Amino acid sequence: MKQYKIFDGHIDTLTALYDSEHRQVRSFIDSSAVGHVDIPRARKGGMAGGFFAICTPPPQSSQYKDPFFGLDLTANGYTVKYPPPLESEYSENFVNCVIDFAFKLESQSANQFKLVQNYLELMRCIEDEILAGIIHIEGAEPIKTDLSNLPVYYEKGVRSIGLVWSRPNEFGFGVPYRYPSTPDIGSGLTRAGLKLVDACNELKIIIDLAHINDKGFWDVVARSKQPIVVSHTAVHTLCPASRNITDRQIDAIGDSGGVIGIWFEPTHIQYQSGGGGKPISDVTAGQIAKHIEYIAERIGIDHVAIGSDFDGADMPSEISDVSCYPWLMGKLADIGYSTSELGKIAMGNWLRIIRTIWGE
Ligand SMILES: [Zn+2]
Repeated sequence: MKQYKIFDGHIDTLTALYDSEHRQVRSFIDSSAVGHVDIPRARKGGMAGGFFAICTPPPQSSQYKDPFFGLDLTANGYTVKYPPPLESEYSENFVNCVIDFAFKLESQSANQFKLVQNYLELMRCIEDEILAGIIHIEGAEPIKTDLSNLPVYYEKGVRSIGLVWSRPNEFGFGVPYRYPSTPDIGSGLTRAGLKLVDACNELKIIIDLAHINDKGFWDVVARSKQPIVVSHTAVHTLCPASRNITDRQIDAIGDSGGVIGIWFEPTHIQYQSGGGGKPISDVTAGQIAKHIEYIAERIGIDHVAIGSDFDGADMPSEISDVSCYPWLMGKLADIGYSTSELGKIAMGNWLRIIRTIWGE
């Protein structure tokens, strides 16, 4: 079968390498069995590039360091305690350190990995088979509410910002982990949030609505001039988790010419109660393909792509790391998509969005 070049809408490798014990046992440069993404495995899977997210974790001392802190199992699902906001200065410091770390990785990679800041650079990397990374901030906590450091982040190379992670911040409200649950939790964007949307439009920074609550989502749809992007999520109708998107949201993304990246995280593809009382489960590549097919049928093939969440979540055993994209592409080929349709899902749709928002 044809090997497709893949552009991934969301991987957490920078955060995982910087923040966890992974840094001691694997590098980004050499192949490892730990974690999900490194250059050799990316090459094997056909990965051409992706959005490299920096998401500020809770401080070391926080109980919320355990992602299942405050887990409550319900009759047919679960809820997790809503984490409190982070200190902006703490987040700013963390994000600055990870950006420095990312450029160190780039220089250590001997021209195998490059952080790109414009469309031409991105296309050159893809042509030259250099893994292309776009610096993405997941959760706008490091941005000051007067937006005075937003241009500084632009200068550092940040070209994409997710307004929230699954916690509240000064700009809006992320949805807490819940199943089953609507994403309609809390109020819309704050005044600072609306101003951040305007400023990102002005600077041509991609606005990512992954994990935002319903009212915040609609505030951005009404305000932003960009196509609407949700980098990593799945279909709420197929798996009614709070962090998946509803049919109305899917339709609005299609109307805007936007893109939805489908993630591989099992509990958001098909929830099953896992072992040890925790909401973990496994899914097949075919089940992930069903979410992609749902969106393609509802709003068209131009609006669905990949947003794995590698290095940010547990992965299915069939797609255990970045070398396994071809397995998913094979399942999509089995559905009957043409080579050009598969090319759009694999990379073309993300490239279109990036070019539309950044310009040539
Ligand atoms: Zn995320």
